[in-house]
Amino acid sequence: MITENLVSEQSDWQRELRQAIHNPLYLLTLLKLSDSALAHRVAAKQSFSLRVPRGYVARMRQGDPDDPLLRQVLPLEAENKQIQGFSIDPVSDVAAEKVPGLLQKYHGRVLLVATGACAIHCRYCFRQHYHYSAYNPSAVLDSIRADSSITEVILSGGDPLTLTDKRLAELAHNLASISHVQRLRLHTRLPIILPERINDELLAWLTGTRLQAIMVVHANHANEIDEKVNKALQSLVDVGITVLNQSVLLRGINDNAAALIALSEALFKSRVLPYYLHILDRVQGAAHFEVSMETSTQLLEQLRVALPGYLVPKMVREVEGMAYKQPE
Ligand SMILES: *Cc1c(COP(=O)(O)O)cnc(C)c1O
Ligand code: SF4
Repeated sequence: MITENLVSEQSDWQRELRQAIHNPLYLLTLLKLSDSALAHRVAAKQSFSLRVPRGYVARMRQGDPDDPLLRQVLPLEAENKQIQGFSIDPVSDVAAEKVPGLLQKYHGRVLLVATGACAIHCRYCFRQHYHYSAYNPSAVLDSIRADSSITEVILSGGDPLTLTDKRLAELAHNLASISHVQRLRLHTRLPIILPERINDELLAWLTGTRLQAIMVVHANHANEIDEKVNKALQSLVDVGITVLNQSVLLRGINDNAAALIALSEALFKSRVLPYYLHILDRVQGAAHFEVSMETSTQLLEQLRVALPGYLVPKMVREVEGMAYKQPE
């Protein structure tokens, strides 16, 4: 999927993507952790490999085995334990397919798995075992066209912003030609991981469509939002795009009130509102990230006490067969 971006003229973000780090021991060396106890817990070989761009690594603290950004990407042996209740399709994506690549679980909105590629591999990702197959664009568009109850199309993945702007502009154009589609939503971690991705080409097609654009980014910790990310987020807001954030509650990363408060405040400094705080989907390999329900509800209470209502994310869980993500 990535290779299509590599022909001739490369943008900065494409070069950055190509130079992403894949070797865990090299990553630990860069962070001065190659002799640490953490180095002995690294998983030798994973089918869902390490992948992290250098700009994101630069936001990690050197010499800190508990760094919350490092913990999101470093493959650990703990992932290989089989734990009851943790499965490869935790949210039943397969059953929700209308046509290959197009999922519908909720009224009025469909989710297009636009690509399997991501700029980063998050160890807790609920789609880490998802079997991505290339979707057929005309079948997807026909399916959306045939159902006038669909008013919003969500581009997801993988990460839709790993696709070229040319492809995305064409997709937006085709969706805009379907009269009942009103909104185009992007679920993407790129503005956080690789802020160079928010360039003029992207802003041009995103603002050049009749569809109302919403971008839901994904940051879990305030340290992910540095000055470059701040600028990228604000440039989206400046051109009139609604920008929201979703996070996952993760043990050892953001499972304390101070971290979650700092995240909401950092987001709002970039004019982004917190949207969802997801309870971890029980995907195989991610059990060591799970936070108990008791701790989760206590944290939510602490956020409500400490923050204005608009900075408290909705804590939700996905439950199979339910008509919306369930509030906790
Ligand atoms: C989470 C999700 C959505 C979006 O739900 P909202 O509550 O509208 O944010 C849409 N479709 C699918 C399949 C989802 O998993
Ligand atoms: S960016 Fe999103 S889809 Fe990609 S690995 Fe991370 S959580 Fe999963």
